[in-house]
Amino acid sequence: MTDRQVLVRDFMKAVKDRNEGQDAFLQAVQEVAEDVITIEKAHSDYAAAKVLERLSEPDRIIGFRVTWEDDNGEVQINRGWRVQMSNAIGPYKGGIRFHPTVGPSILKFLGFEQVFKNALTGLPLGGGKGGSDFNPKGRSTREIMRFCQAFMAELSHHIGPDRDVPAGDINVGTREIGFLFGAYKRHEGQFHGAITGKGQAFGGSAMRVEATGYGLIYFVQNMLAEQGQSIEGKRIVISGKGNVATHAAEKAICEGAKVISLSDTSGTLVNEDGFGQDAVKWVQDRKAAGEDVADPPLSLGLTFKENALPWGLGADIVLPCATQNEMHKSHAKDALDAGAKIIAEGANMPLTAGAAQLVADENIHYAPGKAANAGGVAISGLEMSQNAHGQFQSSEQIDTALKDIMKGIHHRAAGEGRDGNFINYRRGANIAAYRKVADAMTAYGVI
Ligand code: GLU
Repeated sequence: MTDRQVLVRDFMKAVKDRNEGQDAFLQAVQEVAEDVITIEKAHSDYAAAKVLERLSEPDRIIGFRVTWEDDNGEVQINRGWRVQMSNAIGPYKGGIRFHPTVGPSILKFLGFEQVFKNALTGLPLGGGKGGSDFNPKGRSTREIMRFCQAFMAELSHHIGPDRDVPAGDINVGTREIGFLFGAYKRHEGQFHGAITGKGQAFGGSAMRVEATGYGLIYFVQNMLAEQGQSIEGKRIVISGKGNVATHAAEKAICEGAKVISLSDTSGTLVNEDGFGQDAVKWVQDRKAAGEDVADPPLSLGLTFKENALPWGLGADIVLPCATQNEMHKSHAKDALDAGAKIIAEGANMPLTAGAAQLVADENIHYAPGKAANAGGVAISGLEMSQNAHGQFQSSEQIDTALKDIMKGIHHRAAGEGRDGNFINYRRGANIAAYRKVADAMTAYGVI
């Protein structure tokens, strides 16, 4: 065992003892520990001690009951949480997810990733994550509205523009943010931007909806430029059918790439000649209607492969954009065997530890979600400053800012991750983000 491996093992033992069975969270912490533990140990300031161990324990976890009435007049009970992970460099910031898998363990992993992601944007944003085990599938719009109102009746006590600023995540889009913000405003009796991703009629930023997917493509363009290449003509495999997947597809097509796939739990849509924008729009409409992507109309030129995964289709670039741990080791092998040169994460930690290890061993250019998908939260940060200043910026202004921010994130991650001709983006992203948060925490003394 190397000295570093011993340090990581000892560090992880302490974290595991406090978080038994929380696999996704432990994976996220271990990945950062492997990259930063020697930097932490080398720090001479006493106040820098155990920064990573402190960061792997949330500042607090708020939990509450959500009681609401369904369309049959029956009382329903769900659970809600907000994990306030770290406000070392700014107010807690991160999305809200509605999904049956949501619980403190998943939210801690997402909150932990968010701290590093937000630091990488260069904006003053801390990290947090929230959500509920509520499953919106099959629920009417009125039920979703009543649920959001009941959820916010509790959450409103804990958020605010300088305190904690939630946004959307899986199953929480513009419609749900409208319901949540409407309820927040009513409880507060004040209008201020304590949630981002709002509609543009009430303080939302231009481009927030597109930002994560577009930002992902801008990040990939920076990776390609580093290798003297362009995205034009590249084959791109994308998993997922949500906001990130479809907006990445839309932007990739605009930039001249060929999008080969989009997918959901029912199967994979394929077009070997590349999706048209009409096909991407159709997927967006299906998602909005709560339908799966089986049975596309013939005119769109898509083939639907039931229960199939997209990984082995054969592409230069692979963008996992659905959810955590969707890409297992065998899937990563399929992608590499089929010629993948770049893997960039649109979702948060879509690769399992095994898949990430395989990709690292093969020296593939791999961009972790905390760098590649940070465009969404970055534009949330710009929404916060537009709200604070009572301004509205145009789509052109925001798009230019998004390109600059993604370039800056690439620059920071590449700067710390360069290894000869190869760039280890994971290590670079972890080190650059860690340094920023650790500097702030050290400046505060031991707290
Ligand atoms: N949920 C998004 C993420 O994973 C965005 C969070 C935000 O805008 O606060 O980064």
